[in-house]
Amino acid sequence: MNIVLFGAPGAGKGTQSTLLVERLGYHQISTGDLFRHAIKNKTELGRQAQGFMDRGELVPDSIVIGMVDEVLENLKDHHFILDGFPRTRAQAEALGKILQSRGLRLEKAIFLEVPKEELLQRLTGRRVCQSCGAVYHIQSKPTRKDGICDLCGGAVIQRNDDKEDVIATRLRTYEENTFPLRGYYKEMGNYAEVDGSRPTEAVFESLKSLLKA
Ligand code: AMP
Repeated sequence: MNIVLFGAPGAGKGTQSTLLVERLGYHQISTGDLFRHAIKNKTELGRQAQGFMDRGELVPDSIVIGMVDEVLENLKDHHFILDGFPRTRAQAEALGKILQSRGLRLEKAIFLEVPKEELLQRLTGRRVCQSCGAVYHIQSKPTRKDGICDLCGGAVIQRNDDKEDVIATRLRTYEENTFPLRGYYKEMGNYAEVDGSRPTEAVFESLKSLLKA
């Protein structure tokens, strides 16, 4: 089953995608991770994306769509989760065309619903490992040693775009562009939603049942 996982920044898309990869063998396509990787490796794509990301704005549709198109080209035989894509109506329409042209289907677009106060708490306290990408939270999931990843010993830092002023822009951008995609997928008939405010394992169980249905 091919799925889109969408929701606000901090809704848990990345966390749940990682579990779907580890436990159910899905292939994850995270546009945010692809951009961060490109920036780290100082590629042309990274150069194009960096300013937008630092400001909490969306990278232009043409750049994101081109990147996803390329990634999907190599994924024909896998079940995938799109994590963080689409984020605009234009991206959703382009995705539909890309999949159709490859004979692929999007079985479900799953919205992870989390109240705004909870999102703010999650985002401001989130810390990530610079080396392996493991995600921590200063209150709910601190590292054992301050600033050091439990898994790989890498440096655990706050993402630039998790700083408070940028978070405000990201949430506004989400409300204007991504939240309305619920209507788009409802019309397409493949919309589903999950209460993402619960503990990680409970959310995962709900996702698993949806994917079996
Ligand atoms: P994420 O890790 O999903 O929160 O994404 C981090 C940042 O990458 C976003 O704030 C955007 O600047 C950029 N980005 C990721 N996915 C997209 C997308 N589908 N469209 C536009 N920009 C994106």
